[in-house]
Amino acid sequence: MPDTARSFQVSRYVGLALDPIHVGTGGSRLGRVDLTIVRDPVTRVPKIPGSSLAGVLRAYAAMAQQDKHPNRQVNGKQKPYYPDCAGQGQPKQDGTGGHCGQPDCPICTVFGFARGDAGGFAGLAAFSDAHVLLFPVATREGPVWVTCPDSLRDIIGQPVEADGEAIYREVDGSPLNLGWLMLPVKKLGVWDSITQALKARGVTEEITRALAVVSDKLFSHVVNSNLEVRTSVSIDPGTGAAEEGALFTYEAIPRGTVLSWTVTCRDPKHFRIGNQAVTAVRSPEEVHGVVRRASTYLEHLGIGGMGTRGMGRLRVLQGGAQHIGEAL
Ligand SMILES: [Zn+2]
Repeated sequence: MPDTARSFQVSRYVGLALDPIHVGTGGSRLGRVDLTIVRDPVTRVPKIPGSSLAGVLRAYAAMAQQDKHPNRQVNGKQKPYYPDCAGQGQPKQDGTGGHCGQPDCPICTVFGFARGDAGGFAGLAAFSDAHVLLFPVATREGPVWVTCPDSLRDIIGQPVEADGEAIYREVDGSPLNLGWLMLPVKKLGVWDSITQALKARGVTEEITRALAVVSDKLFSHVVNSNLEVRTSVSIDPGTGAAEEGALFTYEAIPRGTVLSWTVTCRDPKHFRIGNQAVTAVRSPEEVHGVVRRASTYLEHLGIGGMGTRGMGRLRVLQGGAQHIGEAL
C-alpha cells in the first residue's frame, strides 16, 4: 500500500475573465436559455467545476512538456506527452494513445492517470471549483463589482456582516440600481480589510474602487439576473449558411468577473507508482510549479466552450497564486 501520510500545500488563485466564459452543463434548458452553465447546487451561483480546470490545465501542461521534450520515448517507442498524456487517457482502437502512467511523467503524476485493468492514480494536484468572487453589474454610476460574505470568507479571513436588502459600500450614499433592483446603500465596517486583501491578490484599483457587498441570498439573484445571454445560429458545414430553425441561446459568466479557486499539492515522497518512486516532481512546490506554468495558458487558450466565438480567456492575476497553508 502506498504511504499516504498527509503532507500538502494549498495555493489560492484569483483570475479575471477576459472574455465571457461558458462551461456548460451538457444539456438541460433553463427558461429561455438552451445552453446553460454549471451552478453551485446550493447557492445557484454559476461556477467552473474543479474537474474542468484540471482538464484544461492538464492539456496545457502536456503541450508545454511536449514543446520541451518533442522526442520522448517509452520502452523504445515514441510516446508524445501531447496528445497522449493529455485528455481522458483511453487508448485508441489501434492501441496507440492513452496516458503513459510513468513515474517520470510530470503530466501523469501531477494530474493522475487512468489505465485499464492496472488501475490508475489520482494525481498529486487537486483543484477546487472556481467560484465567483467579484461580479460586474452595470449601474447608473458605471460598472460595480458585487460580492458577498460567502465569497469573501476565504479571502479576508474575518466575517463580513451584510444582511438584508441593501448594498454595502465604503460610505453611505444614495440608492443604487443593480440591474432591475434599486437598493439603499449602507456603510460597511470592514471595508479596508476587504480592499487590501483583494489588492494583495492582484485585483486592480479600478475594480476595488467600484466594489459593492450584498447578502449571500441577494448575490445569487444579482448574478443570475446579470449573466451574459447570447443568441447564435448553427452553421450548416455543407452550405456555410445558417441552418433552418437553428437559432439557439447560451449563457456565460461575463467578461470582467473575478473568480477564485484553490490548488492542493501533495508531497510526491508519500506516493509510489507501480512500486517506483515518483521522479517527475520531488516536492509539493514542484507539483505546484507544473500547475502554475500551465495556468498561464488560460490567458491565451481559455477554458470552456465556444472558444472559436472569442470566449473563455481567463487571466491569473499577479499575486493571485498565493500559498495559503500546508500540513504535515
Ligand atoms: Zn504521462
